Amino acid sequence: MRKVSIFGATGSIGQNTIDLIKRDPSAYDVVALSGGQNIQQLAEDAVVLGADVAVTADETRLSELRAALGDSGVEAAAGARAIVEAACRPADWVMSAIVGAAGLPPGLAALQQGATLALANKESLVTAGQLIMETAQNHGGRILPVDSEHSAVFQALVGEDMDAVERIVITASGGAFRDWTLEDMARATPEQASSHPNWNMGQRITVDSASMFNKALEIIETKEFFNCSHEQIEVLVHPESLVHALVGFKDGALMAHVGPPDMRHAIGYALHWPERQHLPVARLDLANIGALHFRAPDPQRYPALRLAHEVLELGGHAGAVFNAAKERALDAFLDHRIGFLQMADVVEEVLSQLSPSHCLKNAEMSLDTVTETDHVARRTADTVIEQLA
Ligand code: NDP
Ligand code: MG
Repeated sequence: MRKVSIFGATGSIGQNTIDLIKRDPSAYDVVALSGGQNIQQLAEDAVVLGADVAVTADETRLSELRAALGDSGVEAAAGARAIVEAACRPADWVMSAIVGAAGLPPGLAALQQGATLALANKESLVTAGQLIMETAQNHGGRILPVDSEHSAVFQALVGEDMDAVERIVITASGGAFRDWTLEDMARATPEQASSHPNWNMGQRITVDSASMFNKALEIIETKEFFNCSHEQIEVLVHPESLVHALVGFKDGALMAHVGPPDMRHAIGYALHWPERQHLPVARLDLANIGALHFRAPDPQRYPALRLAHEVLELGGHAGAVFNAAKERALDAFLDHRIGFLQMADVVEEVLSQLSPSHCLKNAEMSLDTVTETDHVARRTADTVIEQLA
């Protein structure tokens, strides 16, 4: 039986992972599940899967979790430190699906145990790409991408040499506002930004899809994971969300990964890698679909894409600055304190204020330096937001 842990178990990726594991429970020995506010879901899944421990990120809700677990024998724990402790428990395969920068410490802890880390938490690679890749290398751990585009690239690269790669193209649906005018986008509400035309995901990534901050994070994620140059990475708007990524080789061949917009494909690929096993995802009927559409993203509508390339040129801790500023700008937008398009203004301003001190190439990177940068960038973003609001 494979020992597995799922961090962010109550979220969209976490629940899709549990769906796959529940289909073949005898194959898995569940070590740890973590959640945040959704105590009932966390407890229910921990009991059904027979987890050793269930951890909520919220320290104030430990007794509630304990009560929900009843006499099931599942241990209860709470707080960010308890999540990291749970990630230190030996496991063969660990799903990293907490949202935001909070996903980095447990992911690092799992890699330090030599686990295979299925990485949905893109913020880990964005904030600390060098650190997380080195940690995997130094401890015999392995990272498997779960973000659909990166899973697609990973699959297109099987048996290929990175030296033969000319470019990596990741696709973007365009999110909720792909056909809106700039004027309408400026007035968009959090409710309007929270519905995605193709994918069913957590609220934060859904809003990030509408602003293309999600794609910006994915550009950085691509560079960190595949170790290509940022000039090799392209974004294509593809409204159908069926082609997830394409890899262009130096002989002109373009390998596309095509599949339904269902995260259980990328999760299942990482779960069964290096094998392929049957997955309960829809099979595409291309004759019925008929046509696929692609267009270049409009740089005016999506400044986040330009900022991602700037981050990669800056290097150092620029990714941590970018992510933290983006998280605070997103909070401010969701709280109706700034407009939709102002999120990019906040991130750009924070980057320009902090790049002389925090985006130094070749700077030493550790969990402490990343955490410190994250805190400084959040404080700076809050000041910028106050001035704008
Ligand atoms: P959700 O918002 O649906 O779930 C987030 C999970 O993290 C929940 O379990 C939540 O707990 C938990 N959580 C929230 N805040 C904290 C915290 N501070 N500390 C610990 N745990 C916390 O997100 P998604 O599942 O959509 O996304 C998860 C990650 O995967 C993100 O990094 C996202 O970018 C990435 N991703 C998601 C995709 C998708 O299709 N959803 C696609 C590709 C990548 P609770 O809900 O109980 O409060
Ligand atoms: Mg993605």
